[in-house]
Amino acid sequence: MNKVSEMFGSKVFNIAVMKERLPKDVYKAVQNTVKNGKRLDSNVADVVANSMKDWAIENGATHFTHWFQPMTGVTAEKHDSFISPTDDGHIIMEFKGKELVQGEPDASSFPSGGLRATFEARGYTAWDPTSFAFIKGKTLCIPTAFCSYGGEALDKKTPLLRSMEAINRQALRVLKLFGNDAASVKTTVGPEQEYFLVDKDMYDKRPDLLYTGRTLFGAKPPKGQELDDHYFGTIKSRVAAFMNELNEELWKLGILAKTEHNEVAPAQHELAPIFATTNIATDHNQLTMELMQRIAKKHNMVCLLHEKPFAGVNGSGKHNNWSISTSDGVNLLEPGETPHENAQFLLFLCAVIKAVDDYQDLLRISVASAGNDHRLGANEAPPAVVSMFLGDELTEILESIVSDSSYDSKERVQMKIGVHVLPRFAKDTTDRNRTSPFAFTGNKFEFRMLGSSASVSGANIVLNTAVAESLKQFADELEGREDFNDALHELIKRVIKEHKRIIFNGNGYDDAWIAEAEKRGLLNLKSTPDCLPYYILEKNEKLFSEHKVLSPSELNARYEIKLETYSKTLNIEALTMVDMVNKDILPAIAEFINTLSQGVNNKKAAVPGAECKYEEKVISKLSALAALICDKCEALDKALCALPDGDDALKTAVYYKDVVFDAMNALRESVDEAEVITDRKYWPYPGYGELLFGVR
Ligand code: ADP
Ligand code: MG
Repeated sequence: MNKVSEMFGSKVFNIAVMKERLPKDVYKAVQNTVKNGKRLDSNVADVVANSMKDWAIENGATHFTHWFQPMTGVTAEKHDSFISPTDDGHIIMEFKGKELVQGEPDASSFPSGGLRATFEARGYTAWDPTSFAFIKGKTLCIPTAFCSYGGEALDKKTPLLRSMEAINRQALRVLKLFGNDAASVKTTVGPEQEYFLVDKDMYDKRPDLLYTGRTLFGAKPPKGQELDDHYFGTIKSRVAAFMNELNEELWKLGILAKTEHNEVAPAQHELAPIFATTNIATDHNQLTMELMQRIAKKHNMVCLLHEKPFAGVNGSGKHNNWSISTSDGVNLLEPGETPHENAQFLLFLCAVIKAVDDYQDLLRISVASAGNDHRLGANEAPPAVVSMFLGDELTEILESIVSDSSYDSKERVQMKIGVHVLPRFAKDTTDRNRTSPFAFTGNKFEFRMLGSSASVSGANIVLNTAVAESLKQFADELEGREDFNDALHELIKRVIKEHKRIIFNGNGYDDAWIAEAEKRGLLNLKSTPDCLPYYILEKNEKLFSEHKVLSPSELNARYEIKLETYSKTLNIEALTMVDMVNKDILPAIAEFINTLSQGVNNKKAAVPGAECKYEEKVISKLSALAALICDKCEALDKALCALPDGDDALKTAVYYKDVVFDAMNALRESVDEAEVITDRKYWPYPGYGELLFGVR
């Protein structure tokens, strides 16, 4: 199987396979479920399950699993074989409809944020028929949502599906006003994924990479990314072999891996797929990250998905390209050619502008993690302030609508929405600003604040729900208005006027912008503990519960989990540092000092009065640093022992940020200083030069 077209989707139980294998009426019933969310009845489910099993076995599978996305951020699966015993002591391969539709993983150890005490009933998984089953290794994987028996979401998929329903509901109301009777509206996502590849032998020698996914120590090598010679550079052969295999495996799973190139930092790369419906794109991105890690190992490399594996060079992010389209495939963020299309476009554009302004806090929270805190605002990723880039031309058009003045001074006509055609604006110029957190790129938005390791579901849950809320308010206002065009014109004018503070087309990395943003009243929530308290504000609780995306208790659970994950991450990092310093770094420095000292003694015995400048200088410098490292390590250890009392998760997280993190940075500084003057042979770990450039 060499041809890409043959390979593509060969491990997916997709429409083509269903059409070929299922009886016509069963196929129709499944389609009805996929398109309209109709429940499959159990007879139909049995037929589908059996056919799925036969197909999976023919393709080498022996097991099946309900594949789900718990709140750990990675995917989970528990494998069961198809084997079923018969009365006569033999076995048959069996897979029943109810096993397809619902599963019961023993999931008591997954984080639930208090939603499900470990002693209570287990959660269950439910098939998401809109995302196709696929084969991974020898296992048939069934994409599922994961809930408690009370129906509370315990995963990242359930609220995502709910948010898609919310935006579908509200967008259809708005489309109806324009005489558009589309059957459904879906959001689409194309996530661009950044990652690092490092040699596995070197990776294995670094406890920090092994335990935390990032280097906690490491002096800067003589060369970093300053020459920009890695960006789009030729791809090394080992990396190329990895990329080829990755592409093939992704294609087999029906994932539209499209572009790949080297990124800015050395050893950094990017992969972008062609966009898909949001829940499928989310599943695919999870699979992509998983395959990247598995396939890298086959090439004796490790794929680092951490947001900041190395200090001093860029970290990794994920760009979430997002749009809304109808079941007929019409992109609602495409400006269109006629006054009618333009008016509809402007209303959807305004829905996004209003959503981003009203829910800046939630967007910021959706990308918050200990790892991403290293990037946001550090001049390698957008600042922590959420703003929107529309491009000068589109912004000018909006301004002319607000001020009732003409956009093109030559024409001298006032733009009347629904009557006049929007002046053309060049698409290409809209994508040049790379510093904006949220950029309009001609027919979609690119949300650029996401971290590389996170699931894209969080960001899209917020986007879908916040835009659904804007659309709801618009529909409430416009429905039943006889003078639709006038009402629309006034509404658009008002929304732009009220929310134009969120639009910023300048350089987001500039300090002046941060000052300006503050003047405009925009939020600047620098760290995860800074932003998380906003999660449970009443306005946000109301948003999620009114659109039936997250109940107040589900929201609160997520708030707790995010805080706990932050604190746990920093705790592991701090403990790893202490461990590395005590067991490897200080002993290595002591050994080197000892060797130098013996050398001095030997030298002086052999040639009395011989010059020992180098040795003496390094001995005293390193001795002083070792003392400092020893003190700072003890201080870090003490900080970890002095956690605030009680179980206030926010207080604990703030303590980790303010006290522990500072102690970690102080310790690193001295260790990195020592690394620079220590003989390579004595330093216990491969350094940045080796990890990033393979130089020793
Ligand atoms: P670039 O940002 O490099 O110019 P593209 O504009 O082609 O590249 O798109 C970048 C990403 O945006 C790709 O993953 C692409 O599939 C995705 N994308 C394009 N159109 C849409 C859309 N309507 N909805 C969601 N994602 C989209
Ligand atoms: Mg991009």
